[in-house]
Amino acid sequence: DEVSLKKVFIGSVDQGTTSTRFLIFDGTGTPVASHQIEFKQIYPQPGWIEHDPNEIFESVEACIEEATKTFVGNGHSISDIKAIGLTTQRETTVLWDGETGETIHTAIAWPDTRTQSIVRELKQRKGAEKLQDICGLPLSTYPSALKLTWLFRNSEKVRETYNEGRLMFGTIDTWLLFKLNGGKERDIHVTDVTNASRTMFVNLHNLEYDPFVLDFFQLDSKKIKFPKVVPNSDAEAFGSIAVGPLKGKKIMGCIGDQSAALVGQLGFTPGKAKNTYGTGCFLLYNVGEKPVISKHGLLATVAFHFGGNRKPVYALEGSIAVAGSAVKFLQNNLGFFEASHKINDLAATVKDNGGCVFVTAFSGLFAPYWIDDAKGTLFGLTQHTEKGHIARATLEATCFQTKAILEAMEKDSGHRLSELAVDGGMSNSDLCMQVCLSLESPWEILINASEQQSQADIINIPVDRPTMRETTALGSAIVAGFAAGVWQEFEDLKKINSEDRMTFKPAISKTACDNLYAQWERAVEMSRGWLD
Ligand code: ADP
Repeated sequence: DEVSLKKVFIGSVDQGTTSTRFLIFDGTGTPVASHQIEFKQIYPQPGWIEHDPNEIFESVEACIEEATKTFVGNGHSISDIKAIGLTTQRETTVLWDGETGETIHTAIAWPDTRTQSIVRELKQRKGAEKLQDICGLPLSTYPSALKLTWLFRNSEKVRETYNEGRLMFGTIDTWLLFKLNGGKERDIHVTDVTNASRTMFVNLHNLEYDPFVLDFFQLDSKKIKFPKVVPNSDAEAFGSIAVGPLKGKKIMGCIGDQSAALVGQLGFTPGKAKNTYGTGCFLLYNVGEKPVISKHGLLATVAFHFGGNRKPVYALEGSIAVAGSAVKFLQNNLGFFEASHKINDLAATVKDNGGCVFVTAFSGLFAPYWIDDAKGTLFGLTQHTEKGHIARATLEATCFQTKAILEAMEKDSGHRLSELAVDGGMSNSDLCMQVCLSLESPWEILINASEQQSQADIINIPVDRPTMRETTALGSAIVAGFAAGVWQEFEDLKKINSEDRMTFKPAISKTACDNLYAQWERAVEMSRGWLD
């Protein structure tokens, strides 16, 4: 019951693209302690984004240390923490030496586009047309397989370690599980089904490494070790924490960040969808127990797998590479404001985008376009253009892409979404949420703080935002809590995060939406084909 659920706790590591967090939730899904650390983005060249895997691990350790201190300081007892869950950024590729446990390259992060020319080349390779049916992903700069291919071609050390049969492959989850377990001593080498489904190496239908795909990428699985693929919820497979204040606590859940957000939004049944507006923006739509291979530019992916007698559940995904990172771009590169949330004040200084459209294609364009060679392009500037117009166009870029993704989802699934649950840093922007809603069909207006267009305006379905927006961390606590027996059925979770949700409803006319969106589509076409 409610009272006893307040006395059990689950720790959750949330390792995102720009920051690491550790939160401790009680059994009612309420966070009682947390700590967050931003870590370094390494930009060696335009289009390249790397992370230091060791710095990432250190940030995890420091967050655990600090949040646990707060937890104990608030009078709670460490012995009431029943399990640890882990959720991570996906696709980001880490390689280490199986003998020493030392990394042999910085991690290539998911938005990195250095593999553009490799993608072009591989699209011509025999068998390329079969890949998407097997692993659900189109060939693009995004999956880990492309990053690994680049590392083979460009790092002598990687080739050497491979030829000597000592090369360990992992995504961030695998790396952190290895490190949290104390490294070489226990030598844990596992990944979960959701992270695995983003590498491109795994067959989406049986969740095993696919020999055809490994062959396509010319990999000899005797020379490179891939992690064992397990369900998200498991009391044994992920080991336990080796050092620090939570030493001995078992890690019972591991799940990719976007899947975690779907779980945290309780998107357990087919038809449920969520959109997370973080560094990038990711819309996941639960399609049930069979994967749906997209014909309209979406990804097929594993949504979650609770293990035991339960079957894996799949999702259609629309991935947008640049969302909040464009807000950061205005802040850090153009000096428009000093903190992300200030974009809203700036955008509010003007009544509309003044004809400005910003295709924020810093990593090419992902779903549903997949234009590798698109570059960030700002259209419609006049003598009247102000910073406010550009701020607004920046928020709207994510809204337009979300609309394009929803249209693709409708075509692939044959269903129209009736509601969109949202979270992530950029969903803090009321303006953005409101704009995002209004682009598709007219809806009743519940909360309409202003007349400005926003996400609700642009997609024209209600946008539903919870007050507790740490849904990614909550999702990993949920998968861990299932393995620990804190909850047994999805039904047990129904009260979690169900109160104080704010609903945005569309506020601008259909014609206005259609006009805005037509401009956007034209701008997308014009952002293609810029030469490096
Ligand atoms: P991630 O988990 O991908 O690291 P978060 O979910 O923490 O990201 O979101 C961070 C992003 O959200 C940043 O890019 C930031 O610029 C943006 N952001 C945060 N607050 C706001 C806000 N109030 N309005 C608009 N964007 C915001």
